[in-house]
Amino acid sequence: MQVVEQPGNVAPAFPWKLWVYTNYDCNLRCQYCVAKSSPNAPRRAIGLANVRRLIDEAKLIGFVHAFFTGGEPFLLPDIYDMLAYSSARMQTTVLTNAMLLHGARLQKLVAVANDALRVQVSLDGGCAEDHDAYRGAGSWARAVDGIKRLQAEGFRVRLGTTETPVNSAHLQQLCAFHRSLGIPDEDHFVRPLAKRGYSKQGLELNMANLVPEVTVNLDGVFWHPLSTDADMQVSKRMFPLATAVGRIQNQLDEITRSGNVKLMDFK
Ligand code: SF4
Repeated sequence: MQVVEQPGNVAPAFPWKLWVYTNYDCNLRCQYCVAKSSPNAPRRAIGLANVRRLIDEAKLIGFVHAFFTGGEPFLLPDIYDMLAYSSARMQTTVLTNAMLLHGARLQKLVAVANDALRVQVSLDGGCAEDHDAYRGAGSWARAVDGIKRLQAEGFRVRLGTTETPVNSAHLQQLCAFHRSLGIPDEDHFVRPLAKRGYSKQGLELNMANLVPEVTVNLDGVFWHPLSTDADMQVSKRMFPLATAVGRIQNQLDEITRSGNVKLMDFK
């Protein structure tokens, strides 16, 4: 288990991570979803052409790792082409609830598998009660099935856990469970609840206290994937990516010069 770093006094060095919000619709309706995703959320798909240009520009700037998130990315028919394009150029991780990864979807993912492509599955418990409390009845069992199917196809699965009042006392049980699946501690990430989107409780995080991780959606560029709310927006233009990255670097320099650097590395 790796827990997010607490605020420190060292400014992060470039390259930061590049995050791509592929879409906002989702097959789940989690109570703490920071993106306000659900089956009723408008799709707001970023599209393959934008992803190709983003990855090309990001590589030129020096980014080495892209993360694809939503919504549920595997609702998109072109997510496989996005992942193939990105993972041919840099380390690539796709976040998913894993519930749709079977049948044709899984086989399309297998077809683009390579060593640079990782799958990160959301799992909040070693038992259904801890996971389903915020994510919906039956979601734990389907997520675990998805993890096992991915492993059977040879994927190295990483796990992302949101610590909540329900699962907080049982994280060691979750760790024992993921080890029983063959997933090592280094591939398990735990982060606290954040008070954003649908979540009414948790840490209050913003541009002043988060390590930047350049985040892009259809509406532009944002400071961090925690939120694509207006207060986190850096640019209303996706391109050129370098312009928004320059703004983030300038703002980070200002924070650093102030001598009061207390930024959280919120994974
Ligand atoms: S937290 Fe993830 S799985 Fe849950 S609704 Fe939001 S995007 Fe979907």
